[in-house]
Amino acid sequence: MTANASTPRVALVTGTSSGIGEAVVRHFCELGHQVLAVDFNPAGREVAERAGAAFFQADLTDGEACRAAAAEAIKRFGRVDILVNNAGIQHVSPIETFPEAKWRQIIDLMLTAPFLLTQAVWPSMRESGWGRVINIASVHAQVASPGKAAYISAKHGMIGLTKTAALEGGGQGITANAICPAYVKTPLVDNQIADQARMHGMEEQEVIENIMLKNAAVKRLIEPSEVASLVAYLASDQAGAVTGASWNIDLGWTAQ
Ligand code: NAD
Repeated sequence: MTANASTPRVALVTGTSSGIGEAVVRHFCELGHQVLAVDFNPAGREVAERAGAAFFQADLTDGEACRAAAAEAIKRFGRVDILVNNAGIQHVSPIETFPEAKWRQIIDLMLTAPFLLTQAVWPSMRESGWGRVINIASVHAQVASPGKAAYISAKHGMIGLTKTAALEGGGQGITANAICPAYVKTPLVDNQIADQARMHGMEEQEVIENIMLKNAAVKRLIEPSEVASLVAYLASDQAGAVTGASWNIDLGWTAQ
């Protein structure tokens, strides 16, 4: 899993203004890939351009915006070889009071957009006879925690989408895999640490140690670059026989 020996490819990566998506864009640019970074946050433009990627602003809860992002990559680079579905948000609330609008927003962004983007780039991958779909799921695609119904449902659904894409892509040179991280040091988690500290009346360090790392064998948060390294491996030529799989980077959480 080194940052070399890779054929230059065209990649479309979503959710790139911070965190895991930003790390993936940087890693891909270092490998010499041409990258379209897609995010609804305009701050993503500077992040992308600093890494050497192009930027497309899109709110991926909108189906037309998903299709426009794929069309932009094809217009700019001629094809899409690698799709990384990464954009995501979190909302914590018990099912009893979970707002319907939040449920729909999370399912639209984290399950429907990956489906629509996969659909939109598929003909390009099929025509090249080579493609990689990499879905950033979560340890919460394997196990549940209270208060995260929409996130957990979207992530479990993403595993089903991944497996189906793997079966349909097998004869066309297209692989599909999911990555399932536990807590990664990103703004998404920083916000949760602050929220939970307030909610439980705890210090932030206590939240990390007693809640986030409670089930972890390796007692630390994951670096975004560690996830980006696995993305780069799954996107490489060497990973052509790897498909339909869920790759845990979960500090040993699901080993028990
Ligand atoms: P992050 O908040 O740093 O990044 C999420 C990105 O998605 C941001 O750039 C944000 O602007 C973008 N985004 C949000 N709504 C969007 C929309 N409507 N349209 C387009 N872009 C939008 O978070 P992260 O931790 O890097 O999360 C990336 C992915 O990794 C998510 O799917 C998340 O569920 C998953 N994940 C994160 C962790 C973790 O601990 N951080 C663990 C497991 C899985």
